Amino acid sequence: MKYVFGPLSSKRLGQSLGVDLLPPKSCTWNCLYCQLGKTRKFVTERQEFFPREEILGEIREALAINKGIDWITFVGSGETMLYKGIGWLIAEVKKLTTTPVAVITNGSLLYLQEVREELLQADAVLPSLNAGSEALHAEIGRPAEGLSFRQHVEGLVTFRKEFKGRLWIEVMLLGGINDSDEALRDLAVVLKEINPDMVHLVLPTRPAPEQEVHLPTHDRIERAISILSEVTTVVHPLKGNMDLRNAPDMLEAVTAIITRHPVQQRELHKAIADCFPGEEYKADDIMRVFMLIGNFKLVDHGGEPYWVMKQGDSGTAEKSGFSS
Ligand code: SF4
Repeated sequence: MKYVFGPLSSKRLGQSLGVDLLPPKSCTWNCLYCQLGKTRKFVTERQEFFPREEILGEIREALAINKGIDWITFVGSGETMLYKGIGWLIAEVKKLTTTPVAVITNGSLLYLQEVREELLQADAVLPSLNAGSEALHAEIGRPAEGLSFRQHVEGLVTFRKEFKGRLWIEVMLLGGINDSDEALRDLAVVLKEINPDMVHLVLPTRPAPEQEVHLPTHDRIERAISILSEVTTVVHPLKGNMDLRNAPDMLEAVTAIITRHPVQQRELHKAIADCFPGEEYKADDIMRVFMLIGNFKLVDHGGEPYWVMKQGDSGTAEKSGFSS
């Protein structure tokens, strides 16, 4: 499938079917931690990158194959809300199924009324907010010219007032960058102003384009939870797991996921082994075959081997200069 991938399993969204609406990499930001690599050219104009009917057709097909899906999640190889027509897609998906719809976005376009309106029918929206000050916002997100921190915050505040669904803000906690008490207190002030239903702390566990991206220490994670919990509910960071059990074509499913983000070798092995209860040993052979016939390569990130696509297949870490 070209647009639909997964299902992926995560603490936040359970079994989630992903729908990618963008050509890689189309984004308004160039985050230090981006698992798609560096943003070579900013995209800030909304477009219908692919025909909406074609995307809907794939969603319909995927829903027929995959049972027990908890969420349909619109994401993008970049900033999801750059897809003009996402509101139509959400409305059409709601005619097909009662499965709730989530949208993962950096939130940078929420200052636009048309963007907020397109999102109103979603059941959950997960925008990013990684800083409580203009300087730190610029340092981490490195947004396109004209997209300011204040505009970002005001977009979130206005959207919160209009949106009746669940607003779950994602905070990427970066060791030594936004995990100081001062940075966390600034963030808490802004979160209070926005008033989300929840904050999900996430960690840079995957290969990133910039060398300065590090995991925060356990103590700093606990401190972040303590400070941010004063203003909202905070979900402790936990990695999700890949689930391939319902994939009609395992290689296709693995390729679709790795095209969008690097996958830890251990996680991939477990997901494949889970497909063969009592015969988990098969996972080793399957991974060997996938490495031979797929377009994958291994890279090291913090001593952990990750699977990424070879250059030319995605906007993954290798494109960004991440060394293997
Ligand atoms: S992490 Fe998301 S918002 Fe940031 S550059 Fe990557 S795709 Fe864009």
